[in-house]
Amino acid sequence: MIDYDYRKPESLEEVFTLLREYGHKAALIAGGTDVMVKIRNTKRAPEVLISLRGLKDLSYIRKNGGYHIGALATHRMLEQSDLIQKELTALHEGASRIGSVQVRNVATLAGNICNAAPSADTAGPLLALDAQVLLQGPDGERVVPVTEFFTGTYKTVRKETEVVTEIRIPAHMERFGSAYWKQSRRKAMNLPIVGIAVSLRLDKRTISDSRIALTVAAPTPIRAHKAEEFLAGKPMDDTVLAEAGRIAASTECCTLRDSLRGEAWYRAEIIEAYVPRMARLAAQRIRTSV
Ligand SMILES: Cc1cc2nc3c(=O)[nH]c(=O)nc-3n(C[C@H](O)[C@H](O)[C@H](O)COP(=O)(O)OP(=O)(O)OC[C@H]3O[C@@H](n4cnc5c(N)ncnc54)[C@H](O)[C@@H]3O)c2cc1C
Repeated sequence: MIDYDYRKPESLEEVFTLLREYGHKAALIAGGTDVMVKIRNTKRAPEVLISLRGLKDLSYIRKNGGYHIGALATHRMLEQSDLIQKELTALHEGASRIGSVQVRNVATLAGNICNAAPSADTAGPLLALDAQVLLQGPDGERVVPVTEFFTGTYKTVRKETEVVTEIRIPAHMERFGSAYWKQSRRKAMNLPIVGIAVSLRLDKRTISDSRIALTVAAPTPIRAHKAEEFLAGKPMDDTVLAEAGRIAASTECCTLRDSLRGEAWYRAEIIEAYVPRMARLAAQRIRTSV
């Protein structure tokens, strides 16, 4: 039997006390859909699991200037939110495609990025939406852009005593349209072979600003900066978008590899084809009334 202690504090202060007390022998758990799978697969558990589910006030999605998503907001909450669907559509698409309804009912957005899998379905949308991560610890808080959050495969900047308490998306993103494509063998219960998120703004027919994010295209989720730079100030036409797709799929932007789920050449073809498609979709979704 795999043995561990389970604690369910009701305040952040109690979480910090436990994290300080147990250090690397403790692990945080939210929905548990990654943590429990890892324990089962490795047959090893931390000495203590510290559940965040007693922190009920971290379960929210709000717009107040920018967008604020509490660490206990589940993918199902994002999927059912009109605000997320209309204004942060790429994130809606990412969250709605995770696992199954049963998984989405308990799995959290914060858990998805803290697990830091290169395939995390919400990482691409968050990168394309300029998200920031609020980390709180016993010594204070800090806000880290999601572009700096992932430091390696399954690794983040989070310190042992810190908790992600909120994910923020700046207000300027309400003027962007966005879209996410998950290339997978099945619609449900399948990780992406590759993921493509695009957000952009138009000035008449000119692309004034864009973000392109890719998952399973490098050891961490990434932005395709060279392709974004290419798009800046260009007209929104097929030739331009096709070239952006080519740049995004090239070694200028990603380090594609072969894996059981798909080969590098296939990932490159999907990125090349879907960057233009997601850009067109994102452009259609720009809200004119903002
Ligand atoms: C059947 C199944 C299907 C799945 N399908 C997909 C899929 O299609 N796409 C996809 O991207 N993922 C998928 N997943 C993975 C998983 O559901 C997501 O990564 C989920 O969002 C993790 O959230 P959680 O709340 O369950 O995290 P947990 O498992 O509780 O935690 C995950 C990690 O994050 C840490 N953590 C959690 N919350 C915090 C916090 N607030 N602060 C600091 N650290 C924290 C934990 O310590 C742990 O390291 C699937 C999982 C299962 C079991």
